[in-house]
Amino acid sequence: MTPVGRQALVTTPAPVKRTFTLLAVHAHPDDESSGTGGLLRLAAEQGHTTVLVTCTNGDLGDVKDRRLRLQPREHPADRQCLAAVRHAELQKAAAILGVTHLYPLGYRDSGMQGWETNREPHAFAQAQVEDVAGQLVQIMRQHRPDVVVTYDENGGYGHPDHIMTHRVTMAALEAAADATRFPESGAPWQVRKVYYTAWARSDALRALKMMHLLRRKTCLRNPDFDPQSIGCPDELITTRVPVRPVLRTKWQALFTHRSQMHQFDFFWWFVRLRTMVVSVRIVSLRVQPVTPPRARIGRLCRTLNPPPSCPPAQKRCLSVTNMVC
Ligand SMILES: [Zn+2]
Repeated sequence: MTPVGRQALVTTPAPVKRTFTLLAVHAHPDDESSGTGGLLRLAAEQGHTTVLVTCTNGDLGDVKDRRLRLQPREHPADRQCLAAVRHAELQKAAAILGVTHLYPLGYRDSGMQGWETNREPHAFAQAQVEDVAGQLVQIMRQHRPDVVVTYDENGGYGHPDHIMTHRVTMAALEAAADATRFPESGAPWQVRKVYYTAWARSDALRALKMMHLLRRKTCLRNPDFDPQSIGCPDELITTRVPVRPVLRTKWQALFTHRSQMHQFDFFWWFVRLRTMVVSVRIVSLRVQPVTPPRARIGRLCRTLNPPPSCPPAQKRCLSVTNMVC
C-alpha cells in the first residue's frame, strides 16, 4: 500500500523503436538505385531491414562505358562478361544503399520489348512463374517483410523483364500466405502492404520539357508521342516519400552502375532532372498500395481496398513506418 503523502512510483516504459522489413523486387541491376534508391537508403537510415531481389543479371544492358568494349547483343562471351561487371556494380550499389540482404536470382536478361531475345528459352520473360515465385516465397517467409515494393502490371514502362517481375512477385505474395503452397519453404507469411513504384505524369512531362529547353533530344517533338502515355496518372498516386536527405547517396549508388551510365545521355538527364524537379517539393518517390491477393484479414483488406467512389488520398510518408501503417 502506498503511504499517504507519498506518490506511487510510476514507471514509464522506455520508448521502443519499432522497425520493419522492406522487400524490393527489381528486374535488373541499377533498377534498385534509379527506382527505389532513395527509399532503400532512407529505410536503412531509419533502422529498418531492407531486402533486395534482382531477378536478372542485366546481360543485355546497353553498354555506355566505352572502355569495356562489350557488345552483348552480338557476342555471347561479351554477354557473360557484362553479367559479371553488372553483378559487381549491383553489389557496390546495394552496399551504398545500406541493403541488408541482396538476392540476385541470376536469370538472363530478355532485352527490350520486341527484341528477338524476348523469346530465348533462358530469358527471364520465358521463365516459369511458379519456379521464380517459389524462390521469392522462400525469401518472403524467411525475412517476413511488412512491405513489398515492385512494378505495376505494365512493368512501369513495358520492359518484358519488369512485367515478369510484377507477375512473379504478385504470384509469390499470394503463395507465401498460403500454407498449402511451398510447405518446404517455411511458415506462411502475409505481407501487409504492396506498393508499385510510379512516376507521376506531371513530373515526367516537366522533366522532358526542361530537357527540351536545354536542347537535349526528347520524344516531345515526335508526332506519335502521346503525353497521356508517359508515367502514372497523378490521380492514381497514393503515397509520396520525401527522400531529399538521402538524394546524394542515391546518386552515388546510381552512378556505381558505370557500365550503364554515360554522363549527359538521355537517361542521365531524364532521371536527374526528374529528381531535381520533384525534389523542389521534397518528393522523390511514389508508391502505390494494392491489395495483397487473398488478404485474409478483414480490417487490413478494408484499409487497403477503399470503396471505388472514394479516390485514393495522397499520403506524405515521412518514414517507412508511415508506409506500413
Ligand atoms: Zn530494368
